[in-house]
Amino acid sequence: MKKLEDYVTSIPDFPEAGIVFRDVTTILEDPDGLSMAVDGIRQMLKGVEYDSVIGPESRGFIFGVPVAYAEHKGFIPVRKKGKLPREVLSADYELEYGKATVEIHKDSIKPGQKVVIIDDLIATGGTIEAIIKLVEELGGEVVKICFIMELAGLNGRDRLTGYDVEAMISYE
Ligand code: AMP
Repeated sequence: MKKLEDYVTSIPDFPEAGIVFRDVTTILEDPDGLSMAVDGIRQMLKGVEYDSVIGPESRGFIFGVPVAYAEHKGFIPVRKKGKLPREVLSADYELEYGKATVEIHKDSIKPGQKVVIIDDLIATGGTIEAIIKLVEELGGEVVKICFIMELAGLNGRDRLTGYDVEAMISYE
């Protein structure tokens, strides 16, 4: 029986020298890989009380929506700057080179709303830290953060101290 990590393809030196890119498309392309990934996240959420799932563009959409659908929760998209049509709240964060901005619809979270964040991978943790800021500025509460993979050597979890963080696969 294959494990979920057997469905991940690791590509050295993509998108640049020195980076090992952990490609989830080979999880998605396989029916067993896809159900293992989605069911694994659903398992992490057993016993967690929450109202909505949040996922960042674009791989957070891929894993967040099927989980939200299966658990009968709503899905709230976080997108890159300029994509969402209604009034947004923005957060800037640092990338390895330069900056990026994520946005959320202001009316998508009500005070006291409990959310879980789902994404494919945590590297430095910068993206998720920015999303937490958006949720909390709108009065929401992040009750769990789920990843398919974590790059443990980058210590992204250090930026998420105090939050319930879980990953299915850990790479050094
Ligand atoms: P970070 O904000 O540094 O935690 O990085 C967040 C996003 O960058 C992840 O959701 C991934 O989509 C992408 N990413 C960063 N490093 C890698 C990698 N080595 N392989 C695949 N995706 C990556």
